[in-house]
Amino acid sequence: MTTKRIAVLTSGGDAQGMNAAVRAVVRTALDKRAEIYAIYEGYQGLIEGGDCIQKMDWDSVGGILQRGGTIIGTARSEEFRTREGRQKAAYNLIQNGIDGLVVIGGDGSLTGANVFRQEWPSLVDELAKSGEISAEVAAAHPSLIIVGLVGSIDNDFSGPDMTIGADSALHRITEAVDAITSTAASHQRTFIVKVMGRNCGYLALYSALATGADWVLIPEAPPDVDNWQEVMVERLKAGTQAGRRDHIIIIAEGARDSQGKYIGSSDVQRVLEAHLGEEVRVTVLGHVQRGGRPSAYDRILATQLGYEAVETLLKAKPEDEPVVVGTRANHITHFPLMECVNKTRAVADAIAARDYEKAMSLRSTSFKDALNTLTTMVRALPHPAAPGQKRFRIAVLNSGAPAPGMNTAARAAIRLGLDQGQFMLGVKNGFDGLAKNEVQEMNWMDVSGWASLGGSMLGTSRVVPQGSDLYAIARTIENNSINALLVIGGWNGYEAVHTMLTSRPNFPAFNIPIICLPASINNNLPGSEFSIGADTALNSIVDAVDKIKQSAVATRRCFVVEVMGHWCGYLALMSGLATGAERVYMHEEGVTLKDLQQDVDNLTRGFEAGKRLGLMIRSEYANKVYTTQFMCSLFEEEGRDVFDVRPAVLGHLQQGGDPSPFDRIQATRLSRLCLEYLIKECNQGSNNCAFIGLQKGKFNFHDMRDFERMIDARYERPKEQWWLELKGIASLMAKFSPTG
Ligand code: ADP
Repeated sequence: MTTKRIAVLTSGGDAQGMNAAVRAVVRTALDKRAEIYAIYEGYQGLIEGGDCIQKMDWDSVGGILQRGGTIIGTARSEEFRTREGRQKAAYNLIQNGIDGLVVIGGDGSLTGANVFRQEWPSLVDELAKSGEISAEVAAAHPSLIIVGLVGSIDNDFSGPDMTIGADSALHRITEAVDAITSTAASHQRTFIVKVMGRNCGYLALYSALATGADWVLIPEAPPDVDNWQEVMVERLKAGTQAGRRDHIIIIAEGARDSQGKYIGSSDVQRVLEAHLGEEVRVTVLGHVQRGGRPSAYDRILATQLGYEAVETLLKAKPEDEPVVVGTRANHITHFPLMECVNKTRAVADAIAARDYEKAMSLRSTSFKDALNTLTTMVRALPHPAAPGQKRFRIAVLNSGAPAPGMNTAARAAIRLGLDQGQFMLGVKNGFDGLAKNEVQEMNWMDVSGWASLGGSMLGTSRVVPQGSDLYAIARTIENNSINALLVIGGWNGYEAVHTMLTSRPNFPAFNIPIICLPASINNNLPGSEFSIGADTALNSIVDAVDKIKQSAVATRRCFVVEVMGHWCGYLALMSGLATGAERVYMHEEGVTLKDLQQDVDNLTRGFEAGKRLGLMIRSEYANKVYTTQFMCSLFEEEGRDVFDVRPAVLGHLQQGGDPSPFDRIQATRLSRLCLEYLIKECNQGSNNCAFIGLQKGKFNFHDMRDFERMIDARYERPKEQWWLELKGIASLMAKFSPTG
């Protein structure tokens, strides 16, 4: 069998994570014994040929995982839009014997790829007729196989849930808006922040949700009243009266009014300055959003997609319709390329035709929900309770170790509850505080500014109530007439609620609806693929490891980095994937002396062959005996003359930090659903006890009676852990060469 030759190119606007995708494409191809070429400078490079087309090896993509942009360059090519241009491109591909292409770009680039593929037979025919290639060569290249990956910071592509780069762009925007918020609050100022998104409000909407912004303008949903400026001014004034010191307005670059007229940031600035009587500043974020290092999520997503793109390409038959590989409901999925491109265009067309209803209908349910939630959260004050409405007293508490996003969740629950006429109670210091009756009524402004804060403003504790605590808790529930309880927390919180459930026969006060919202950096809770805080912790680890790697540029050094997670290897494996670690040790797999010996041998061989840095990530409870220190001593002793070894125990930096955009957004979504659940239970007079989670793209409520059945109690983790399936990709990417 002849070796397959395939190529990868990046095209259109660059996006963080493109490098991770290129790395994965190259390494997967090599692992599968294919020859892999990079086309530099996108389609323009394909037209120019020569040095723009280069054969890649394992090391040509070393050290690029953490870099923003695309190392193989991208370009916009007018020439590729012409048939002559595409003919040159076909010639160059044939000259290099390439007949499979992974295209990483936006909808424009993917459209171009499809045109190219459709024209391929006729282009080859013409090249043969003109004598530029021989008839035999033409016959050897009857078709071109294309697989697309969507690299676009705007998340503007219909089909996949997330495009490569969108999460990193949200990171950039969130960091910038958090920074602006602190200066705005100091000076009592209003800031207008303009973000990217010509036909897609994703970045504006989700960054507004994540930062607790006061107003958002997006292309798909223009203000529904003509006097929206007045409404906005009134809302902001009411916010000031209620105690807000700053106002943040986020505008997508494609925002327009219901007549289709673009709303510029200076238009909004003028209106606000005239009516608020205070300084209004504009910040246009521009290319900052494209720049910087990719987030952990983008690195992992792009790695998975790059792997799958090559698998698909090598298996594809010429007659197969071209596909885009993307993620849907946390699963790698194939989408028909042209259908996605057409749907993406349909949104833009609907916006241009001022058919906003249609534009919104083409967006996902979660996009619509996000807009609804935001509309409530930005209110200056809640709607008053309806006359005669049944009002319930709903308590919110944090439990377990602090997880970034707990405050975002508490804020969302409290505001959304108040807006629905409920009494919202905050419990200080977790179940310990509940036993000590540390309960207070919460108002709208009590949670102002909480969206972006790490730690736990309510206070948390790891206490799992036993014995007399249970009496005290029952008394608190009765004394405060608590009708329902929302527990935002980790393992201890779930255990505590489970204890309350099983103690109901002795404590009638526990017969209230209770729900647990997963919040733990360990991501070790049943019934949910993600818990709040894990994404932030992962990014903190990745940031730290990036720095650790940089510190070792000139030495032959191996780091053993210890990360948190108790017995759950999620943080270890995912950070290993996102940082390019060559080995991940976790409890789920166990560690044996034989493994360690093998690892020492691999390290020694690698360093002898010129490698400068080794990176091993060890989950904290991976093995009781083979501790981080033990591993370091072993490697150091065995690697003596060849390399040295340093431990890096990352510790509590993993629990701190401001929550990532993903954690804030998930916290808000989960909180809204938990609150709806509790209110429904209260209205029905039922007292179910549940935990919520995101699984396969759906939010599920699990009966707390199933908790024990779903967990491995000894090792405090769920029986099913979806992310273990990524082990194979992680070790493939980390191989020093395809053979060893
Ligand atoms: P993006 O891929 O980010 O949407 P563009 O829309 O600018 O960016 O497209 C990138 C490149 O893809 C263009 O410069 C052009 O070379 C190619 N391209 C886009 N649309 C087409 C098309 N209809 N036919 C051929 N090539 C196209």
